[in-house]
Amino acid sequence: MARITVAHGDGIGPEIMDATLRILKAAGAQLEIDEIEVGEKLYLSGNSAGIHPESWEIIRRNKVFLKAPITTPQGGGYKSLNVSTRKFLGLFANVRPCVSLHPYVTTKHPIMDVVIVRENEEDLYAGIEHQQTDEVVQCLKLISRPGCEHIVRYAFEYARTQGRKKVTCFTKDNIMKQTDGLFHQVFDEIAAEYPEIENEHWIVDIGAAKLADTPEAFDVIVMPNLYGDILSDVAAQITGSVGLAGSANIGSECAMFEAIHGSAPRRAGQNVANPSGLLHGAILMLNHLGQFDVAERVHNAWLKTLEDGTHTYDIFTEGLSREKVGTREFADAVIANLGQEPSQLKAVRYRGDSKIQIPKYERKAPKTKELEGVDLFVHWHGTEADALAPLIQAINCDDAALSMITNRGIKVWPDGFPETFCTDHWRCRFKNPKGGMMPKERIINLLKAAEAHGIDVVKTENLYRFDGTPSYSLGQGQ
Ligand code: NAD
Repeated sequence: MARITVAHGDGIGPEIMDATLRILKAAGAQLEIDEIEVGEKLYLSGNSAGIHPESWEIIRRNKVFLKAPITTPQGGGYKSLNVSTRKFLGLFANVRPCVSLHPYVTTKHPIMDVVIVRENEEDLYAGIEHQQTDEVVQCLKLISRPGCEHIVRYAFEYARTQGRKKVTCFTKDNIMKQTDGLFHQVFDEIAAEYPEIENEHWIVDIGAAKLADTPEAFDVIVMPNLYGDILSDVAAQITGSVGLAGSANIGSECAMFEAIHGSAPRRAGQNVANPSGLLHGAILMLNHLGQFDVAERVHNAWLKTLEDGTHTYDIFTEGLSREKVGTREFADAVIANLGQEPSQLKAVRYRGDSKIQIPKYERKAPKTKELEGVDLFVHWHGTEADALAPLIQAINCDDAALSMITNRGIKVWPDGFPETFCTDHWRCRFKNPKGGMMPKERIINLLKAAEAHGIDVVKTENLYRFDGTPSYSLGQGQ
């Protein structure tokens, strides 16, 4: 018997959770359930986290959490409970299998069996955002080496334990050379440890196009958080419906299982939603709990139900489907099929413990770190970089002089183009004009001098060399 936490969620959540739990019970899942309340009702009652503090205790004690989708109200102040759960519990890996069920579910991609392994804690989802000037806001994209090592190793271990042949990595490292560059570099390092598994890297834009067009070319795809969020919806949708796919959020202690879709408020309360996504999440959970027989029974009964043509509205096709059913009736049909297997679609077999253990991250020996300069980000209302440069040069000193100004990353001084549009957010790069390094206290001197000259510095970024390699981006056009 496993004790799990269940949240019924918002919108279509309660209906699909009810359908899922009925199927699990009928299939003989050994579950003891603690229910918690989360989501919209709590948010709107003034609880900006969307969850009672004591519910965290229950989630942490039980370690396994089956969660229906939650509505995060629009507007400031509400923190997404989905994102906080993943981060608080260290659920670093989000695994989303997307499989076509041709010819029983209409899809343009009859041969598709892709698993998206999405990094779940970092990237732009760190949620660190600031307004810096009247015209410019910023979101920090944080990518860490431990984060990359965990997720990439997880993807290769997943491929190994599931008998998959290839792991593909998607990044945009031609543009984001530091952040996506690190993800790609770690991918190459770890791929070398798995010579029996094919590996490849695609730039995310063309990779996404290829995924949408030729998904049969892919097997396991590992991605940073944002690309994984977007492309796992695309991958699920092109199998036939976003309502079909489930996801496992895995950490070293806890795990959360859910549908990949949201709470679809427009469909709520009408008994129309497809419960398959959450049911898939539950199948992943049963496997995680070692209840392989039950997982297999549920999955095969579900395949048989789709093969019978018993379809919810989202996958219903005139002439192909036999009957259009609601959420409850779909669950009844799956329950009636328990113990049966599909005759055309491939039945699943879940056997043995394929739990993935990722070694604890070991911090590497520190690199040598030298300060080469500093970027001062300045709020200035003018429009001509040539007019800004002398104002900034007024704070130059012996070993820290203005070397470049960029606006939204594009070099505008020296030798800017008059055509370049400029906002009120200017990056002024200071380096040692004699070459070599810059003492760190120089940053404080520069800030003091800027203050004295009425220059509005909104942020600084230090320019480091790690082990002798400049570890910051150049200005575009530099
Ligand atoms: P959504 O995934 O809820 O729905 C988009 C559309 O997809 C729906 O209108 C519906 O046509 C279809 N759809 C989704 N699930 C379906 C199902 N099970 N059966 C049939 N059709 C289905 O996306 P959205 O409308 O952008 O988001 C609604 C809310 O859900 C938002 O508040 C968002 O924050 C939240 N959300 C929650 C989660 C989560 O809890 N993990 C994930 C994504 C979005």
